[in-house]
Amino acid sequence: MTIETAAAPPAPPTPTPDEDSAPYWAALAEHRVLLPICDSCSARHFPPTPACPHCGHPHTHWEEVPATGSVYSFITVHRAFDPAFADQVPYVIATVDLQAGVRTVGRLSGTPAIGARVSPEFTDHDGWTELRFRVVES
Ligand SMILES: [Zn+2]
Repeated sequence: MTIETAAAPPAPPTPTPDEDSAPYWAALAEHRVLLPICDSCSARHFPPTPACPHCGHPHTHWEEVPATGSVYSFITVHRAFDPAFADQVPYVIATVDLQAGVRTVGRLSGTPAIGARVSPEFTDHDGWTELRFRVVES
């Protein structure tokens, strides 16, 4: 008699925090969202960069922001780009305009729609936390 067992999906790819993004990832692990803010022009930006993308100033500081916003665009993934996600299709990836003034990307749950209001969902993985979003109203 042969017993077949389903192979566990491979581990998902993990982010590698660098000097610029480490505070962002550390805050996500605490279920908080931090964004870099330019010390010169006070503009927020994402993703974290070595210098302000608006004015080029090399110094920024971090500020906690609410990760609420609205859907700018979305796609439904029917064919996983990575085998680690093959058992999760279909799923939705959205670009989200945060009320804090930056655009980011994340998995979206709920009924997707352009302009739908979203709130954050923090998904803890082995060693890191992912920022996802949930539709709260369309
Ligand atoms: Zn600036």
